[in-house]
Amino acid sequence: MADHAHHEHSGKGLISAAQDAFAEAGEQWTEMRADVYAALAQCDRPASAYDLAESVSSLRGKRVAPNSVYRILDLFVRTNLARRIESANAYLANSHPSCRHDCIFLICDSCGKAAHIDDDTLTGSLVNAARDAGFADVRPVVELRGLCTDCN
Ligand SMILES: [Zn+2]
Ligand SMILES: [Zn+2]
Repeated sequence: MADHAHHEHSGKGLISAAQDAFAEAGEQWTEMRADVYAALAQCDRPASAYDLAESVSSLRGKRVAPNSVYRILDLFVRTNLARRIESANAYLANSHPSCRHDCIFLICDSCGKAAHIDDDTLTGSLVNAARDAGFADVRPVVELRGLCTDCN
């Protein structure tokens, strides 16, 4: 587990933590970005840019192009508000936007729900192994597939 004060947020607490982290990164919390974030934060499984464009469209009562949603998601990933789940080609709200970790994601093969654990020792070993192999600027992408507690 993380060896520092580490806060996992949810609900309203998560939204305000995300706004703080976003402001700290010098970004504007526009209405459109707030809507994309709200749509993302209510998902308990990774959501694609298309799924999120659908929810944002119904939230705003007018059609929002997946491309604009995709650009905002990309900004959220860069500012640590969201994480991209590579194996699902989808996004999740980061439950600890104020704190950088190389999260280890657990994705259920049956219901698609994602959980995550933070173990900096484990991801640190992966980074060191990659550096030993001559790799620079290493970013671990660790996703484990299996069955969640509800499904197994
Ligand atoms: Zn994490
Ligand atoms: Zn499941």
